[in-house]
Amino acid sequence: MTLKNLLLLGQGSDLQSERGVSCTGELPEPSDPTLIERARIARAALGDRALILGHHYQRDEVIEFADITGDSFKLAQSAAAQSSAEFIIFCGVHFMAESADILTSKKQQVILPDLAAGCSMADMATANQVQHCWEQLAQAGVADVTIPVTYMNSSAAIKSFTGEHGGTICTSSNAQSAMAWALTQGEKILFLPDQHLGRNTAVLALGYSLDDCVLWNPWKPMGGLTVEEIRAAKIILWRGHCSVHGRFSIDSVNDIRQRVPGVKVLVHPECQHEVVCAADEVGSTEMIIRTVANSPAGSKWAIGTELNLVSRLARTHPDKEIYFLDKDVCYCSTMNRIDLPHLVWAMESLVKGHIVNVIEVDSTVASYSKLALERMLAL
Ligand code: SF4
Repeated sequence: MTLKNLLLLGQGSDLQSERGVSCTGELPEPSDPTLIERARIARAALGDRALILGHHYQRDEVIEFADITGDSFKLAQSAAAQSSAEFIIFCGVHFMAESADILTSKKQQVILPDLAAGCSMADMATANQVQHCWEQLAQAGVADVTIPVTYMNSSAAIKSFTGEHGGTICTSSNAQSAMAWALTQGEKILFLPDQHLGRNTAVLALGYSLDDCVLWNPWKPMGGLTVEEIRAAKIILWRGHCSVHGRFSIDSVNDIRQRVPGVKVLVHPECQHEVVCAADEVGSTEMIIRTVANSPAGSKWAIGTELNLVSRLARTHPDKEIYFLDKDVCYCSTMNRIDLPHLVWAMESLVKGHIVNVIEVDSTVASYSKLALERMLAL
């Protein structure tokens, strides 16, 4: 690849990628002592014209200003249910803001305070790669009986592909019902882009064996599989993963059990299969929050998910012992790009009448994506 094909931060946008560019204009300094006051003033000035959505993995300084907090599923529902606010300020990552744009009306604008807040997992499946995969599945004679099930953590282009080919979107909250539904519509599933969520759901929730699942490597001809393997598989898993949840290992689980007797291990289904199998409980971000909240005082939990959320759970439940599952710091670096300076910059710009960082999905892509998202919301 030549240098001119590389995307440099702040010098354009790569429409095929979840990676964006940094914001334009004057960002407040993070050290500005008036930052919180500026945020309050701008928020008050926007009033009902704006709704701020905050994903659970966001920093505390941002969550403080969120009108609704949630995982990607809850935030998608919130965006779909809301029709009055002129601006949806989405404190999360790019694919979530795209989904909000798809689900809201044309009169509403979705703002992502930092366009560089992408998702490395979503980047692991590009539209071209998925289209090429489908053509190869057709060559193997299975495309007609395969239903795409696509995790929310994907670009609008992949969601659109899913809608066009009779599939549905899912989140970690509803992957089981989405996959069960897909198998009433066809004989096989192409699960995109998170192999771990697909494998964990197929094996642990739907009762398939590991041998029923094959891994599609988009960098190899026929995904690195034989035609016989493709035909025999029930679930074709895309070779993508979350760079945050993928870090937790079986060693982390063994280590915490040794260090903290009586601890229960609670992990997200984006973790590797062996980690999920070794855990006491597995569930979506919302389920993790509920489980900790409903556990008795004195409970000990080692949690395998993003660090901002685990730290917040530890602070809000001082009567429980909350541990981060890994010894190393494990923030989602792209989620963390949305900070108070970017939020203040976005809100103050809107107050001044400058509409910045609008996320707008192409209308054809949006219509098929909406079909796939609506199938999910109807599950
Ligand atoms: S935590 Fe993982 S899946 Fe979620 S936004 Fe970050 S990289 Fe993407």
